[in-house]
Amino acid sequence: MKETWDLILVGAGLANGLLAWRLQRARPELSVLVVEQAPVLGTAHTWSFHRSDLTSAQNQWLAPLVSHRWPGYRVRFPHLERQLDGEYCSISGAHFAQALSSGLGRQLMLGAPVQRLTPDRVQLANGETLRARVVIDGRGLAPSPNLRLGYQNFLGQELQLTAAHGLDVPLVMDATVPQLDGYRFVYVLPLGPDRLLVEDTYYSETPHFEQTRLRERIDAYVRDKGWVVRDRLREEQGSLPIVLAGRFEAFHAEGHGVVRSGLRAGLFHPVTGYSLPEAVRLADLLAATPELSAEALQGQLQAYRRDLWQRQRFFRLLNRMLFLAGRPEERWRILERFHRLAPGLIQRFYAGAPTATDKVRLLMGKPPVPVMAALHAMLDFAPPRQESP
Ligand SMILES: Cc1cc2nc3c(=O)[nH]c(=O)nc-3n(C[C@H](O)[C@H](O)[C@H](O)COP(=O)(O)OP(=O)(O)OC[C@H]3O[C@@H](n4cnc5c(N)ncnc54)[C@H](O)[C@@H]3O)c2cc1C
Repeated sequence: MKETWDLILVGAGLANGLLAWRLQRARPELSVLVVEQAPVLGTAHTWSFHRSDLTSAQNQWLAPLVSHRWPGYRVRFPHLERQLDGEYCSISGAHFAQALSSGLGRQLMLGAPVQRLTPDRVQLANGETLRARVVIDGRGLAPSPNLRLGYQNFLGQELQLTAAHGLDVPLVMDATVPQLDGYRFVYVLPLGPDRLLVEDTYYSETPHFEQTRLRERIDAYVRDKGWVVRDRLREEQGSLPIVLAGRFEAFHAEGHGVVRSGLRAGLFHPVTGYSLPEAVRLADLLAATPELSAEALQGQLQAYRRDLWQRQRFFRLLNRMLFLAGRPEERWRILERFHRLAPGLIQRFYAGAPTATDKVRLLMGKPPVPVMAALHAMLDFAPPRQESP
């Protein structure tokens, strides 16, 4: 093993995996080690994104990792069924794991839980210490007293059917299902002519859910559609953070000077908890940074994250309206109204870059939650000190 690495990435998940992949191509002179606690890379993820979330250069470097592409996607609500154009893409965990392992070779250390880390040192559970010019902590979201969160909880099953399902594009929100435990929808990805990923999803106040109940609801949904399951191939589940408010500086300080990536750095879309586009942007940012020292990167990333946090303020306001105004079983109305808006606005929203006009449009018109309740949610909720309304 080398004496000192240029970079040690702790955690071989989405953010650090994409970062390692990008650096290998853009900065082959750098020595990079990726340290992961699991004995094999995880396959229990499907990471989806809209092509329009990324620039064409970003789509290009990501292309070898993409497992599925569809020309558009559909949404269904009680009073709206709509197909939206624009490529929708997915990376399967298995494909990502395989690409990463073969690309990194001996630069990937598996079965190596990290016990402690500092800006330039990593201590493994077996007592070994590794050194680097920069350590990047990408171990996923840590619980934080400085973020006020709601949750997107879901459980998904990849299903082999006995016959073709007839879907040609993903159904990213089917909210015609009974509204239980908050805003509920089913997400369906057609992975093959007779293969589906079906996820039962909830926007809820807590990260807890009963797996058995969600499995039963997937069974009921599949039966209702007339699909017959031959095999349940695998399962994935998550509880993604939906940010209502927070204290940026205090959240940032939790890193104790260690450079962070992915969810641990707060780099995700506040309304969906999705982090792939932000992980791609971070990989590009680091690949373009000439001086890779812990101190320089820490300063650069703090400024980058602060700017993003400020730009995301509007999303946190929408989340507060979603979670705190109106009754949970009525939340679907907000999402139905949103999906009636112009396709360009919807694209910019998911890409995390709404314009000033988009923001006005999002708040304008006949509000789908009672006006007084919505105002109350904004005024009465006491956001942590650094959150301006
Ligand atoms: C099932 C699922 C599906 C999702 N689907 C999407 C999607 O479609 N699109 C999207 O954009 N987002 C999606 N997300 C949300 C988010 O983008 C993912 O959670 C994403 O994987 C977060 O990336 P990350 O790198 O921050 O963390 P992770 O990908 O969770 O990676 C963290 C890694 O750190 C490792 N680790 C933790 N502790 C240690 C330690 N002490 N030592 C060494 N290694 C450690 C973990 O084993 C893990 O491999 C999904 C999340 C889940 C759970």
